[in-house]
Amino acid sequence: MPRVVIVGGGISGLALAYRLEQRAPDAEVIVLEQAARLGGTIGTEQRNGFRIEIGPNGFLDNKPFTLTLCRELGLGERLVPASEAARRNRYLFLDGRLHLLPHNLLSFLRSDVLSWRTRFLLLAERFRPPRRHGGDESIDAFVRRRVGRELAETLADAFVSGIYAGDPKLLSIQAALPRLAQLEREYGSVLRGMAQTARQRRELAEPSSGRMWSFREGLSRLIETLRIRLRFAPLTGVSVRTVRRLANARWRVQSDGREGWDAEAVVLACPAYEQARMLADEDADLAKAIDGIAYNRIVVVALGYRIADIPRSLDGFGYLSPQRQRRDVLGVQWCSSIFPERAPPGLVLLRAMCGGWGRPEMIDWDEGRLLRAVRVELRSAMGIEAAPVFHHIVRWPKAIPQYHLGHLERVAWIEDRLVRHPGLFLTGNAYRGVALNDCVEQAGLLAERIARHLKI
Ligand SMILES: Cc1cc2nc3c(=O)[nH]c(=O)nc-3n(C[C@H](O)[C@H](O)[C@H](O)COP(=O)(O)OP(=O)(O)OC[C@H]3O[C@@H](n4cnc5c(N)ncnc54)[C@H](O)[C@@H]3O)c2cc1C
Repeated sequence: MPRVVIVGGGISGLALAYRLEQRAPDAEVIVLEQAARLGGTIGTEQRNGFRIEIGPNGFLDNKPFTLTLCRELGLGERLVPASEAARRNRYLFLDGRLHLLPHNLLSFLRSDVLSWRTRFLLLAERFRPPRRHGGDESIDAFVRRRVGRELAETLADAFVSGIYAGDPKLLSIQAALPRLAQLEREYGSVLRGMAQTARQRRELAEPSSGRMWSFREGLSRLIETLRIRLRFAPLTGVSVRTVRRLANARWRVQSDGREGWDAEAVVLACPAYEQARMLADEDADLAKAIDGIAYNRIVVVALGYRIADIPRSLDGFGYLSPQRQRRDVLGVQWCSSIFPERAPPGLVLLRAMCGGWGRPEMIDWDEGRLLRAVRVELRSAMGIEAAPVFHHIVRWPKAIPQYHLGHLERVAWIEDRLVRHPGLFLTGNAYRGVALNDCVEQAGLLAERIARHLKI
């Protein structure tokens, strides 16, 4: 029976193990996870009657992969979509107040979030010629070129904050927001491309997408179900130290605890900096290229309030704040307005995201300083004067990989280099997308490649 060892029990590793067991039922698939629990950045905690996500809040249905996986796992009945209000209403904190974000071109043109000049430039985007020469471009440069400075510094900046908590001047449009680059390439204009693809969807009677999903019990339900459904139970508390090629075309995975596993194929599904550390002796250049993928730092501050203490309606997903304002909060999710059963009756749950690429120092702030900073922000943006009745802080010193300029070339170089190491595979959110959908999509594709390698 061929053996495959997967290092890392986050969604990338677990979804891969599941797909591999389906695709290659004769293989023994062993998942090794360093922490005491599975899930990596995904985790739901129950505290004082609140249900708090420590990392992702949910996944989108703009790509089908995670929804499909959940339904295959028999979780269809447990899935909950984000509320209609959360789907429709997102806010931007700008000039000291919350602005409702427009959700289509017409409402953009009517909205006062953008100046008349930028609204006109947005309308004219359809007629602006696409970039002819190739080469990478930052998200900021792309948006400035297509529409102008104001859109880049407000909406694009806030949008990037919401997904990557990164710097739009450093992030590559092709790697971080490939869909926008693709629309320009294929349709000559982003807006024209969006309009045409929306029309095609309507003609095919496809449901509109872009809704967020989770479970009543929170995202941990997906991790727990994967754990139960895997034929070979993942091993937790195993910190892998090195991965070495053996003479007989096999690989040895060595843990800190000196346990070893030999396998026909090994997959590193842990963060890039961990992959680099494991491969340093085997291929220093490969390790260096992997280690060049940067990570930001994020602090998630969850706060519980009495409904009576919130002076405004929580009628939406929450708000984002453009990072160039350098405020202490990147955005706040109104968790109990998005999904049910997040807070006890009479209370609400909010989650403030702090830090990100531009404010890495915030992760070192002590609890008191963080809480004071978030409360100041909530007072300015939402008028909340009262103290929270509950708080919970999660720090991510290496949170989300940043696809900086040159990322795609780096990934292509790494892929080429792997040709020298048959049986070694790299995956995880460091390479081809940070969303859960991307991780699950990659798991399916990689399971095929591994099965071919094993000639199964
Ligand atoms: C605060 C936050 C909010 C987010 N919000 C969203 C969202 O709303 N929607 C969305 O789609 N995505 C979101 N994301 C991104 C998404 O959560 C991640 O990209 C995804 O979960 C990454 O999964 P992964 O398995 O690739 O990596 P991880 O989740 O990082 O898993 C890697 C695993 O490898 C293990 N590991 C590390 N070193 C070793 C070792 N030496 N030996 C063995 N195991 C090891 C780790 O313990 C970990 O369990 C968010 C991320 C963060 C941090």
